[in-house]
Amino acid sequence: MKKEFAVIGLGRFGSSIVRELIDQGANVMAIDFKAERVDEFMHVATNAVVADTTDENVLKSIGIHEFEHVIVAIGEDIQASILTTLMLKELGVAKITVKAQNEYHEKVLRKIGADFVVHPERDMGIRIANNLMSNTVLDYLELSDEHSIMELRANDAIAGYSIIDLDIRAQYGINIIGIKRGTQILISPNPADKILRDDILLVIGADTDINRFVQRAM
Ligand code: ADP
Repeated sequence: MKKEFAVIGLGRFGSSIVRELIDQGANVMAIDFKAERVDEFMHVATNAVVADTTDENVLKSIGIHEFEHVIVAIGEDIQASILTTLMLKELGVAKITVKAQNEYHEKVLRKIGADFVVHPERDMGIRIANNLMSNTVLDYLELSDEHSIMELRANDAIAGYSIIDLDIRAQYGINIIGIKRGTQILISPNPADKILRDDILLVIGADTDINRFVQRAM
């Protein structure tokens, strides 16, 4: 059986990924070049190894190519992050997720073939700002730079109307893919069904279109 995840860099971000993956039942190798960081994970991760991942021979010796998905959570040392990513790619790792420090770092990572690039601080900042600004947008999942799935709380402005009444797809180019109603979840809701107050609408579309819908209709 293929090994599952390897996480390189056990700072705050890498550590929380390791702990969460383990909690969810995955096999995780935790890697850092600082022995004291690795010691903390001896009894947490499936495996914990001290390794400098900018050294190709070291990467080979820990069998990194056997992992399905490697997460590069090296924070400040951008050069080490890029070099590590490049070698993971060359060694044929199937999926690589990398934490980027800034837009330039992200550009390079994409160019060398990182499959997923994440900006945890920036994304969390945006998410918290959205929550602070609005009682309507409860959460969102970024699909690309311009598209998301958002959770919107139905207020009085749209309660009592059906999806057809609101003509959401034609007017805004967005789709309601599900409705959470209490503990129930309606997948692909019937367009003729009435939306109730406090329903949570799962909406997919371009961010600008979803925002237009929130501002005009809600
Ligand atoms: P965070 O913001 O997530 O706390 P840090 O920059 O503090 O990020 O953590 C990055 C981790 O990556 C550190 O524990 C550091 O020791 C580790 N690290 C940095 N360079 C390498 C490398 N070449 N090989 C392995 N681990 C590395």
